[in-house]
Amino acid sequence: MSRQDATNSFMEDSPRLTLDDTITFRCGPDVPCFNECCHDLSLMLTGYDVLRLRTHLGLSSEKFIDTYTDMHADGEFNLPLLRLKMLDDERKSCPFLTDKGCSVYEDRPWACRSYPVGSATSVSNLPGRSDQFYFLIKEDHCKGFEQDRTITVREWVKDQDIQAYEENNDFFKDLTRYRKTLQSGLGAARQKMFFMACYNLERFRDFVLKSSFLRKFEVDEETLQNIKTDDTALLRFAYRWLRFSMFNEDTLSVRSLGGLQPQGRSPSMP
Ligand code: SF4
Ligand code: SF4
Repeated sequence: MSRQDATNSFMEDSPRLTLDDTITFRCGPDVPCFNECCHDLSLMLTGYDVLRLRTHLGLSSEKFIDTYTDMHADGEFNLPLLRLKMLDDERKSCPFLTDKGCSVYEDRPWACRSYPVGSATSVSNLPGRSDQFYFLIKEDHCKGFEQDRTITVREWVKDQDIQAYEENNDFFKDLTRYRKTLQSGLGAARQKMFFMACYNLERFRDFVLKSSFLRKFEVDEETLQNIKTDDTALLRFAYRWLRFSMFNEDTLSVRSLGGLQPQGRSPSMP
């Protein structure tokens, strides 16, 4: 079973954990299964995963996407999601796997860093309200559960530096809440917009700065300066745009008529 499939299955079947619950688990070069889990994965990438990985590798979004990912037409959310492309070797290894372990360890994807702790948000959750829970993902080949180390989920989240991924993937975490709207079909233009805003920040920055976007939407000066220079700030702004344009949420303000409202069509993709 792939890690993604295992995650979905365990989310349904495992007891829910809080930050104060404990787990017994340890991973490292001395465990007998070291590197065993980095093969034949169906590993979905979030926008923040792509940002961290391509920055680590010094690549543009486009180059990273072309080299390291393939497109997964996701049936559950009806969205074009990227997956990490495994090598074409016998074991379908992750392209970042080396004998010494993960070559992108500091910036490894969210799913790799969280394992064996999955997290999810309750479907009935209201916008802006946190109802997060955790669960354990136990894969048969993983000997980490046999190691002598007990820590709380809170310590695990801190230890694995998961907080930044939780914060900068909030839009991806909310996809469950949007499932109904997504399954009714977004249309090709919005699917394209989703892909650009989440995965190709250089193009999204051009869209914001070089189209009629800023004449149509209120963007305060501080946010504008941040999105010009800071990719994480730009990604967070992209999520605001997607919540507004895909799900009609009140995350952006349209400029008022009689002010700087431009004539003509809505901002279009570059
Ligand atoms: S990114 Fe690193 S931790 Fe994740 S599967 Fe690849 S080698 Fe393993
Ligand atoms: S299988 Fe488990 S213990 Fe072994 S390397 Fe992977 S995560 Fe660590």
